[in-house]
Amino acid sequence: QAKELGGGRFRFFTPTLKDGMLKSILMERALRHALDHDELFLCYQPQVCSKELTIVGAEALLRWRKADGQLVPPSDFVPLAEDTGLIVPIGDWVIRTACRQAVQWEREGRPPLKIAVNVSPRQLVQDGFVEKVAGILRETGMTASRLIIEITEGVALQNTKETTDTLLRLKALGLQISMDDFGTGYSSLGYLRTFQVDSLKIAQSFVGEMAENEGHAGIVKAIMAMARSLNLSVVVEGVETEEQVKLLQTIDDCTIQGYYFYKPLLPDEFSAVRDKVKQ
Ligand code: C2E
Ligand code: MG
Ligand code: MG
Ligand code: MG
Repeated sequence: QAKELGGGRFRFFTPTLKDGMLKSILMERALRHALDHDELFLCYQPQVCSKELTIVGAEALLRWRKADGQLVPPSDFVPLAEDTGLIVPIGDWVIRTACRQAVQWEREGRPPLKIAVNVSPRQLVQDGFVEKVAGILRETGMTASRLIIEITEGVALQNTKETTDTLLRLKALGLQISMDDFGTGYSSLGYLRTFQVDSLKIAQSFVGEMAENEGHAGIVKAIMAMARSLNLSVVVEGVETEEQVKLLQTIDDCTIQGYYFYKPLLPDEFSAVRDKVKQ
């Protein structure tokens, strides 16, 4: 069949490329199946206030458990879902499921939590996204101001006009916008204003070595100082040690998300840790 496309293209169908294509076609099919057969689920990683050490929110993180029990991390299938457009129905499911869960926890008597969901650029530019989100809020009874949309600096690279329009309309609904993995991308600081971002999540790569590497600690301090002057709140991700917590507490108030406090938890596990925070 490659030959029919013209001799010039024949050489591109090397065995490895063909294998790669076959693999992604099979994977796309498996991912569609996953969505239709409840193989996807969400974990929730608690976010802890650096001052009070109470749980103030959670990030919903997508997981895929295949029928054979194999657990696939999002880094292995979210990129394919983005390329194929499957991220649109999957993303809808993520938002609806996270909102339902938040409302359920509240009904169980838990203090209201902010719930953050990751949203890909492709989801933001789909037709009717804002109306869809409004519908999910209505349908689940979720309070708009407690739903946080996490975007990455990548959204700034394409469809700026459309994306900006969508983000501003989401904000008009009452949602908050958070810039994920801040400091690793290529977007200009101007986007923080254009997109009316409410909070920054400092990229894990700066946090990992913060306690050992003065340069990294300097970057974290600089981002936190900038956030304060722009009136943005800060979430520090990937916090794994007590040293890092202590250091952050000397810098400024922030929200801490990381293995030191909690790993991403199943909903039942999350319910069990309701008010208990380590330390
Ligand atoms: P992210 O949004 O930056 O999520 C944070 C990632 O860091 C999560 O990985 C989390 O498990 C991990 N993490 C949290 N604390 C620590 C820590 O202390 N140490 C270390 N080493 N890692 C920590 P995860 O769950 O594998 O997700 C990876 C990425 O996949 C996410 O990065 C996000 O970009 C994407 N993703 C996850 N769920 C969704 C989703 O529902 N939709 C979309 N579009 N993307 C998603
Ligand atoms: Mg995130
Ligand atoms: Mg992140
Ligand atoms: Mg990320």
